[in-house]
Amino acid sequence: MARARAVDDSQIVKIMETADQPLTAYELIAKLPARQRPSPPVVYRALERLNADGRVHRIESLKAFIPCRSHGHDHEVVLAVCTDCKHVEEIEDHGLCRVVSRWQDTSGFSAAQKTFEIMGQCKDCSTH
Ligand SMILES: [Zn+2]
Ligand SMILES: [Zn+2]
Repeated sequence: MARARAVDDSQIVKIMETADQPLTAYELIAKLPARQRPSPPVVYRALERLNADGRVHRIESLKAFIPCRSHGHDHEVVLAVCTDCKHVEEIEDHGLCRVVSRWQDTSGFSAAQKTFEIMGQCKDCSTH
């Protein structure tokens, strides 16, 4: 069995930061230099790790990832997704986070994943 090649987490984040679009795992793999291209499971695991750490965010509706633009958050992630051009903007609003955590406290709901996705058209796409 061939040894799975490791992947550098920082390299993954860097590739995402230079891309102007959310990247799927496969698009990300394609952007890695061919000689050090890891197998898809290695990349999936790296993405899961980065997502759990809040360094990248998974966009469920696009099955893609973006780098986190805010620094170190343990709060909810709010993403506005343009369904036309696939541009994704991260919204920093602690008010919304407070509402959600208050509701969690009273409802006893245990959230495994706290990402909000707002779907629609960005300013550029809605004015065309
Ligand atoms: Zn973020
Ligand atoms: Zn758009």
